[in-house]
Amino acid sequence: MFGCGGLGCPTATYLAAAGIGKINLIDFQKPELSNLNRQIMHFEKDLGIKDKSVSLKEKLGQLNSSIEIESFSLEINDKNIFKFKESDVLVDCLDNFHTRYLLNEFSLSEKIPLVHAAVEAYYGQITTIIPVKTPCIKCLFPNMPNKEGMFPIVGPTCGILGSLEAMEVIKVLTGIGDILSGKLLIVDLKCMEFETINFKRKEDCSVCSKYF
Ligand SMILES: [Zn+2]
Repeated sequence: MFGCGGLGCPTATYLAAAGIGKINLIDFQKPELSNLNRQIMHFEKDLGIKDKSVSLKEKLGQLNSSIEIESFSLEINDKNIFKFKESDVLVDCLDNFHTRYLLNEFSLSEKIPLVHAAVEAYYGQITTIIPVKTPCIKCLFPNMPNKEGMFPIVGPTCGILGSLEAMEVIKVLTGIGDILSGKLLIVDLKCMEFETINFKRKEDCSVCSKYF
């Protein structure tokens, strides 16, 4: 679980409640007051004191004490990401494309499925990358979107996209049902519209073309 914020809180909560046996929580930031509209597993008492990974681990441990949860206060880079090469699925709950691209490369090099979601304001998107089968994140977003820094998020947007991520993870792990492989689900909560589009691999993709 990469990111323990707006997407990470609901996603990890449903996965812990479902009894997913081992969950690694990775985030190096501390919760701030302005996060609390959406980062629902961080409370006022946690502000500025605990790292988000530690705060989330505490709450999930109270929800389900029979699973293994580890917290990592790590800023992910191209070296320390290899700590997680034994994962069965990678979950992108990040807020930036720099780390998201690293995660995409890692997913391909280690052949680990990656559930990707991103949110902004009332909007969200989600897809699942199956390495060397589906297109990758870089096929979908060849250029870094100009969205770094502060951007507004209406809290329930994270709840909905996080719930969808948890559902994708459960389906990837169990093999039940159809997942969003090669498909991008776009959620517009301002108009309450959900649309799924198919997307194709870029033949000259700078990342996944090395692996096909
Ligand atoms: Zn690609």
